[in-house]
Amino acid sequence: MKERLVCLGIESTAHTFGVGIATTGKTGGRILANVIKQFTTRKGGIIPAEAAEHHVDICDVAITEALAAAAITLKDVDIVSFSQGPGIGNCLRVGAAAARTLSLAHKKPLVGVNHCISHLEIGKLLTAAKDPVLLYVSGANTQVIAFETGKYRIFGETLDIGVGNMLDVFARHIGIGFPGGPRIMRLATAGKRYIELPYVVKGMDVSFGGILTNIKRKYDSGDYRKEDLCYSLQETVFAMLVETAERALAHTGKSELLLGGGVACNTRLQEMCRAMCEERGAKLFVPERQFLVDNGAMIAWLGILEYLKGTRTQVEKSEILPYWRTDEA
Ligand code: AMP
Ligand code: MG
Repeated sequence: MKERLVCLGIESTAHTFGVGIATTGKTGGRILANVIKQFTTRKGGIIPAEAAEHHVDICDVAITEALAAAAITLKDVDIVSFSQGPGIGNCLRVGAAAARTLSLAHKKPLVGVNHCISHLEIGKLLTAAKDPVLLYVSGANTQVIAFETGKYRIFGETLDIGVGNMLDVFARHIGIGFPGGPRIMRLATAGKRYIELPYVVKGMDVSFGGILTNIKRKYDSGDYRKEDLCYSLQETVFAMLVETAERALAHTGKSELLLGGGVACNTRLQEMCRAMCEERGAKLFVPERQFLVDNGAMIAWLGILEYLKGTRTQVEKSEILPYWRTDEA
């Protein structure tokens, strides 16, 4: 094994184009750069073709900035990795094309990685978590994942939309803009009254579609303060998430909970997870914000781990996998 391996990783599953650089050697893994470029619109929502156009426009700048931040050149890079899926086809295609080009032009091995698993592995690298259950809560994804008996497994997941999308859609509905999650969090602090909402946990799975319809109707009726609705929405859906995470901890016998995804930036969700972990003697780990949201560093780090396991993605077999499931990786 080479004493020091350097991997450049490209993330482009949705609205973020990220380029990260990770390295490993005798002293373990380290992140050398994590450049994040986000496509946003004032109203929110994501038009796939526009996001992809943003990624094409920004791609060379992001790569150049990442190399500069790591103080290396492409010559120093040993591996090129990219998010192969799951995600939005238009967006994934840009990252894959950029990665293939770097790989072919500079004769570096290519490694396609699973985006959801990278959230778990970056958390293990950057926190003291050794074998955690990951509560992965982002715009499009909501999953409870852990590594058990030789593979990554999904213990629970949303049956419809991701929790972040649900928050964003409600925020847009009540005219507080995008991204919705942080704005709902701010309004919720002024909530005084808990308003009953559907609580939808099925086994270890959750569903948000019905809650969204219900709370939109409540808002439209004019009978409720929006602060109370935001407060109640957070309390309800976060309780659902904490419940499924706790079941996964109990089921697997693991004693570490790791958070990942943009919604994990929410301090109320963190607080509820901490209380649950304390009650059952488990530990909670929350990476810093730049590693919670979609980022290239986690793709670079998983690229190294996969490379060391022997994974090589041939360019002719590097097609994107928009529906790639965590338990098929
Ligand atoms: P990601 O898809 O992982 O990049 O995360 C984006 C999602 O995280 C969006 O749906 C945001 O509304 C959500 N988000 C970001 N910050 C917060 C927060 N403080 N509370 C709740 N959701 C958040
Ligand atoms: Mg993500």
